[in-house]
Amino acid sequence: MLRDVRFLNMGYCLIDQSQLVTGHPVGDVVRIPIWAYLLRGDDGLLLVDTGMPRGCVGNERYFGEMEPGDLIMPQMQSGDMVAEVLDRQGLHPQDIDGVIFTHRHFDHAGGSGIFQGTRILIHTDELQALRQDPELPEWIDLGLRYETVQDGAEPMPGVRLVHTPGHTPGHMSLLLRPQGVRPLLLTIDAVYTRRNWQDDILGAMTDRAQGQASVDRLRAVAEAEDAAVFFGHDRDQSKEPFWQAFAR
Ligand SMILES: [Zn+2]
Repeated sequence: MLRDVRFLNMGYCLIDQSQLVTGHPVGDVVRIPIWAYLLRGDDGLLLVDTGMPRGCVGNERYFGEMEPGDLIMPQMQSGDMVAEVLDRQGLHPQDIDGVIFTHRHFDHAGGSGIFQGTRILIHTDELQALRQDPELPEWIDLGLRYETVQDGAEPMPGVRLVHTPGHTPGHMSLLLRPQGVRPLLLTIDAVYTRRNWQDDILGAMTDRAQGQASVDRLRAVAEAEDAAVFFGHDRDQSKEPFWQAFAR
């Protein structure tokens, strides 16, 4: 049984909106939240994503000089490092029984390196893509204890992984069925914001056809489960009353 779900803020990022909303003109910079999620079940704790790498702390120029349309500037403080975020929950990294690695990007996998020896659940296609990548990002440690998973895996009762490729090959979203509340669908980066969902506009995708199929699938899951849908990087959503109960 999934007893508790907490949304952990892991800092922010400035990004050109054209990267969030395909077709949006270049030049509008928005500040988006970075999230991780802590899932407490009867048999343990799962952490979904690990935030940004420590090299982003106080370093908006982590990615160097950028063209306006490519602008990404991390806004991370030391308190946004995953070990410190867990500490505020009264937890040590060793208390986490498994990390769900939704995808490879810096704002999701950036803190995974501290979980040496912890099970890291990753989709087969994501791990394969990482192993074949000649330019592996510095925050990816291929020596971690990866365990590959497939679509539909349930690492804990009430937690189902949904393979949603397109943003990356092995991107995963999650369907949660917490005790006593409506099912929750975490889109992660298959859908960045409510606007992407409502207006059916894709965000950044390495494979747009796959990305569209994944969004269509998430819509079907949300409808079948009557799930509340939480988007990966929406600026305002966590302020809505329903989500306030989960956001920390
Ligand atoms: Zn992201």
